[in-house]
Amino acid sequence: MIAVLRIGHRPFRDKRITTHVALVARAFGADKIFIDTRDVKLENTVLSVVDRFGGDFKIETGVNWKKIIKGWKDVSVHLTMYGLLLDDVIPEVRKHKDVLVVVGSEKVPAELFEMVDYNVAVGNQPHSEVAAVALFLDRYFEGKWLKKRFNGKIRIFPSKSGKKVISK
Ligand code: SAM
Repeated sequence: MIAVLRIGHRPFRDKRITTHVALVARAFGADKIFIDTRDVKLENTVLSVVDRFGGDFKIETGVNWKKIIKGWKDVSVHLTMYGLLLDDVIPEVRKHKDVLVVVGSEKVPAELFEMVDYNVAVGNQPHSEVAAVALFLDRYFEGKWLKKRFNGKIRIFPSKSGKKVISK
């Protein structure tokens, strides 16, 4: 089970970016996303993608993020530009099957750094939670997420030009 935990979500301001974190998590091979603030609209947006494009991705909003981290049985990783470099840590993390990947939004609570097993930097420059999740999952799965089959109602075939789509 690979789960992403998004903390500091503000439904009005972060609507698009949290949706993108969720869609990237799903597309790049994670099984679930937890979001700290309750947001039914966001749940519906993500579930509608799952319904059309397939897979078994789950979303849960309004969770207590501290409880999720404390209750996580295997390894937890906080993505932060202050952490250890991704390439140095990922071989160790990859030994674990159940990984909780935590990302923030504006400013993350200082205690988070102490609560996780690893603080991991996707480079030491500030960028985006979307990019951080994408690159982390790509390295974790060693690119194999690209071959994942979702068996959805909608299937897209790679095409040189135009759109090749089959809808069930
Ligand atoms: N100044 C903020 C802070 O105190 O962390 C940065 C916020 S950034 C817009 C939102 C989230 O993106 C961060 O909480 C972190 O999870 C992720 N992020 C941004 N840059 C990152 C990096 N270089 N490596 C890993 N994660 C990063």
